[in-house]
Amino acid sequence: MRGHLFDNLGEVASLLREGPIGLLLDLDGTISEIVPQPDEASVSPSIKAVLRELSRSLPLVSIITGRSAGQARDIVGVEDLVYVGNHGLEWIIDGRETLAEEASPYLPSMRRLLVLLREKLPLEGLFFEDKGGSFAIHYRHAPDPGVARESILKAIEELAQGEVRTLMGKAVVDVLCADVSLVKEFPLFGAILIGDDVTELDSFRAAGKLSSEGGFAFKSIAVVSADSPPELKSEAELTLLSVAEVERFLVWLADKTDLDSGFHRND
Ligand SMILES: [Mg+2]
Repeated sequence: MRGHLFDNLGEVASLLREGPIGLLLDLDGTISEIVPQPDEASVSPSIKAVLRELSRSLPLVSIITGRSAGQARDIVGVEDLVYVGNHGLEWIIDGRETLAEEASPYLPSMRRLLVLLREKLPLEGLFFEDKGGSFAIHYRHAPDPGVARESILKAIEELAQGEVRTLMGKAVVDVLCADVSLVKEFPLFGAILIGDDVTELDSFRAAGKLSSEGGFAFKSIAVVSADSPPELKSEAELTLLSVAEVERFLVWLADKTDLDSGFHRND
C-alpha cells in the first residue's frame, strides 16, 4: 500500500493514457454501504448515474461479487455493466446470463480433474490447493521446478483437453473453470480494481499475474476502514476510505474518460 488514491491520481491518469482500461468493482462495501441485512443493500442514484456514464466511456465496467450475478444486477440496476457473481462462476454480459449455465456443470469435472491430477502427478514437492471452484498446484518445492511445471501443464492438457484455463504464477499453476481474469475477454490494456475485502485479493493477484506476463497494467485500490483485513491493505497499491470516496473517484474517472473518450472508443 502506497498511499491515498487522491494523492496519487496522476498514476491513474497515466494508466488511462496508455490504452483502453476496464473498471472492476466490488459491490458490498465498495459501491454500496455495508448494511446489517445483506438484502437491504442498495446503490445510490448518483453512483448508478456515474456507472452508466462510465459504461459508455470505458470498454468494460464490471461488478465482481460473491453474491449471485442476478442479485448484483438487481441491486446495481445498470444494464450495460458486466456482472460477475458467485466468485466468478456466473456472468451476465449484455443482459444475458451467458456463463451461468456453463459454469456449474464444470464444478464436478473440476473436482474430477483435481483427483486425477493428484493421481497422475509425482507428488514430491507439489502442493495442491483446493479453492472450491478452482484449484492451484504449487511446485516451488519440487526437486526440479522447471520439470514440475512442464509435467503439470502436460497433465492438465491431457486430462482437461482445453476445458479449463490456467494462470501461471510464481511457482504455481492456477486452474480455473470460470476465469477471474475476465479482462482477457475484452481488448484492454489494463484495469482499475476496487474492493474492500480479502475476496478482492484473488482479482488483485490475477491482475498481478497477467501484468507479470507482460502487456497488462493495473491499479489495485482497497476501500479501507479500521477493521479491514491486513492482507488487503498490504497488497493494494492505493486506498480509499469510504463508499463516498469511491463515488468521488468514479466521478473524476467519468470526467477524465469523457475527455479522452475518442481515444478509448476507437482503440
Ligand atoms: Mg466487499
